[in-house]
Amino acid sequence: MRFADISIRYKVALLIVMITFVIFAAVSLGFTYFDVKNFREQLASEVRVAADVTAANSGAAIKSRDKDAAEETLKTLSALRFVLRAGMYDKDGGLFAEYLRPGIDGLPKSLSNIPGTHVDSSSLGVASPISVGQDDLGVIYLEASTHQLYQRVLLRIRLVGLLLAIALPLSLILGFRLQRVITDPILELAEATRQISKNQQFSIRTKRIGNDEIGRLVDEFNNMLEQIDSRDEKLQRHRDELEQVVLERTRALRKSNDELRKAKERAEEASEIKSEFVANISHELRTPLNGILGMSTLALETEHSEEMNEYLKTIDNSSRALLDIINDVLDFSKIEAGRLEINRAAINLREFLENTVKPFSFTAALKKLSFKLELASDVPEVVEVDGVRLRQVITNLIGNAIKFTAEGEVKIEVLSEAGDDEEVQLKFVISDTGIGIPAERQEAIFEAFSQADGSVTRRFGGTGLGLAISLRLLDLMNGTIDVESVPGEGSKFTCIVPVTVLKSSENMGLQTESRSIGLLNGDSKKAVSRMELQHPADGLRILVAEDNLINQRVAVRLLQK
Ligand code: ADP
Repeated sequence: MRFADISIRYKVALLIVMITFVIFAAVSLGFTYFDVKNFREQLASEVRVAADVTAANSGAAIKSRDKDAAEETLKTLSALRFVLRAGMYDKDGGLFAEYLRPGIDGLPKSLSNIPGTHVDSSSLGVASPISVGQDDLGVIYLEASTHQLYQRVLLRIRLVGLLLAIALPLSLILGFRLQRVITDPILELAEATRQISKNQQFSIRTKRIGNDEIGRLVDEFNNMLEQIDSRDEKLQRHRDELEQVVLERTRALRKSNDELRKAKERAEEASEIKSEFVANISHELRTPLNGILGMSTLALETEHSEEMNEYLKTIDNSSRALLDIINDVLDFSKIEAGRLEINRAAINLREFLENTVKPFSFTAALKKLSFKLELASDVPEVVEVDGVRLRQVITNLIGNAIKFTAEGEVKIEVLSEAGDDEEVQLKFVISDTGIGIPAERQEAIFEAFSQADGSVTRRFGGTGLGLAISLRLLDLMNGTIDVESVPGEGSKFTCIVPVTVLKSSENMGLQTESRSIGLLNGDSKKAVSRMELQHPADGLRILVAEDNLINQRVAVRLLQK
């Protein structure tokens, strides 16, 4: 473990112990050093004094060469504990007398062999001249033991060691006690932060012990926690309020959704009822209208005056116009109610187109318009498509083209574009040189009851339903319709219808173009009048099935004719 990683508690304790140790060791060593130095200097001066005194006392003995007296003088040195040996050397350097402590070796015989004044590990030697007046008579050499000195050094070292041995555990105990003053609040702070980050509990507070920096740190820390706590509280309150608001809004939204749904259901129901009503009423309207039309047709064929002819023609035209409108409304309401189905069957396209277009050539000729039908060479012969609905669309477009064109041309082009497998896209382009449609109205004319402008009804009649029906019928057949038009120059309507191409062998069930019977228009399947015509071998017997009395009469009269 690195020093940086150990607990601050141990770091501070260790620091205290280390400082104690270093200071104690430095002080002890200093004292020991000066003590030993003093002691040595004192010893050296004592030895010198002893040598000087002995030299002073030895003058007579060496002068008279009295060896006994000399040895007696030297012997007085035995009183000094530290003297190991002493020698008296004469003028020539020869050893004249010596004193030896028991067990100590003798001194060298010649002065030149003694070490002189010195200090080494075991001894301290001092040489002092013996002089009387101006005469040098010899030298006293005295050697003292330094044993005491080293004993003292050793004692000091032991003492220091002993004191350290006592002081270290003491400082350790004190260190551990003292460090708590510093580390306890820090550790408490650390624990508090740990708890906070673990439990996200900002209500925890740390106790302040002193007024020092750590105390201030604790204060600031608590202050910070208080701020966070109050902010948290505010946030929570805000969140609660928000939740409440969201709850209320959701409730309101749910309520309004419910109401909307109910309203939508009611509207759908109402629209369905309306469509049903319109479908039923238009259906019912057609029956008497057929009667009027039949009768006017029959009446026109009787003998009558010129004036009566005018009246009857007006009745006839008005009835036909009314029937057209009723048929449109019926178709539109059926489509809106989703009750109109597409019935695909095989048709011979050329025959179909000729029969569809031919009735218009008369009206076009009356208006002196050039009227053309052009089929591209690759247009298939037999296709499968809902012929009734396709005719309705084309009829409406040609009718409009002639209605809105005063001079020039109305042209119908049929082209074929390859599709998938047996599918081809039949393209019908109906163009005219009529009044045209302003660009901003070109989208609106496909909406129900919508015309290019307000004057159209007045000038040309119509309900504004034809294109809306055509668009929806083409939708049901997966087809499209588009218009290009320039006001004053003309319009071009393009329908694209996907059809299945049938080969000749598949043409068995080919729907031959039935001639329109009597006054029927539009939906052949659900027509009010239904006739079965039989051709027995001899004589002519016809069964007419018709529930309406007037229509029965019309049918009988027509058949009789
Ligand atoms: P209607 O012909 O009964 O008014 P349509 O839905 O067939 O209803 O046509 C809607 C309107 O579009 C017409 O009233 C007319 O203003 C405009 N329109 C349609 N075809 C042509 C055309 N070939 N030329 C000019 N305007 C046209």
